[in-house]
Amino acid sequence: MPGLLLEEVSHRYDSGWAVRDLGFAVEPGEIVCLLGPSGCGKTTVLRLAAGLEPLQAGRIRIGGRIVAEGGKAQQVPPESRGVGLMFQDYALFPHLTVRENVAFGLARSDSRRATWVREVLGEMELEEYADRYPHTLSGGQQQRIALLRALAPRPRVLLLDEPFSGLDEHLRQQIRMETLRRLEGTEASTLMVTHDPEEAMFLADRIVVLHRGRLVQDAAPIEIFERPRDPFVARLFGPVNEFEGVVRSRRVATPLGPVAAGGFEDGSAVLVMVRANDVAVLEGGEESRSSVTGRVRSARTLGLQSELRLRAGGDGIAREIQVRVPGVVLPGEGSELRLAVRAGRAFVYPR
Ligand code: ATP
Repeated sequence: MPGLLLEEVSHRYDSGWAVRDLGFAVEPGEIVCLLGPSGCGKTTVLRLAAGLEPLQAGRIRIGGRIVAEGGKAQQVPPESRGVGLMFQDYALFPHLTVRENVAFGLARSDSRRATWVREVLGEMELEEYADRYPHTLSGGQQQRIALLRALAPRPRVLLLDEPFSGLDEHLRQQIRMETLRRLEGTEASTLMVTHDPEEAMFLADRIVVLHRGRLVQDAAPIEIFERPRDPFVARLFGPVNEFEGVVRSRRVATPLGPVAAGGFEDGSAVLVMVRANDVAVLEGGEESRSSVTGRVRSARTLGLQSELRLRAGGDGIAREIQVRVPGVVLPGEGSELRLAVRAGRAFVYPR
């Protein structure tokens, strides 16, 4: 039985629909990331699951029990849903110390209370702040405490809204790992909001992609990455080259050479998408049947990877191509490189 189940949930604000006909489950022990751009309805879904927003349409179950049903006045209040919450605006208790905040959800009779709190504060590098009050801490420190407060009572369902957003890169990686470790081996159903696709890839067992309040894909991270259902999902993971074309002899001509048209019939108008990271720059001597020549327009490096812009393609279809290659690669403007689409890495959609 799913820890959390949403069925045909819709929600409308005065400004318009925020969530439409949304349904998905979070199984016990599973981490599901809600992924999508700003304004796509992620926080609204979390607020509905928590009971912070009255449900207008659909049904929400926690551990099989209906906690909210559209149109019914009586809904289970947040504190009785057995959920651990961490929201951007769900602040720490200002009159309690860090230690007391973290221990808040634990029964006073729990003999392991003090030890547990000491242990987790250590893991999250917060030991030295145990006796301070929230307002004397940085935003990132408060955020980690809020995360621990949500995890502490081992709730059946955890609802986390961008739990790592205020942290620097080093701390974010560490806290993510600690959180994963804390959740592993528990039966918690975790629903986490993020707008960062890499974070979702790293943490999630499943990713639910939202676009304008609607579910566009609900699948394992690798599936979402390697078989994006539509152009919107394909664009989530960084820059993409997009070419319009028509299928001829089961192939589509693109500035990067012909690509297989998948299941599309000859004559179909299609959109071909190739991620900047999936355009290979061939080394001297390396051969590919379908490589093309690109003339460098610009090259900039981010250190770990470099971003090249090249002009490629024959008469009528020549275009600027964006390429991302690992490491520092800075070819001079005007130089020529051989380019090829990595095998199987062109996505084709109906136009
Ligand atoms: P972000 O990543 O920016 O936090 P989000 O995906 O969490 O965005 P929501 O906060 O759920 O998105 O908002 C979804 C839509 O509903 C947005 O268009 C937003 O403007 C609107 N909205 C959210 N809260 C309210 C409200 N209280 N009243 C009116 N409109 C709202």
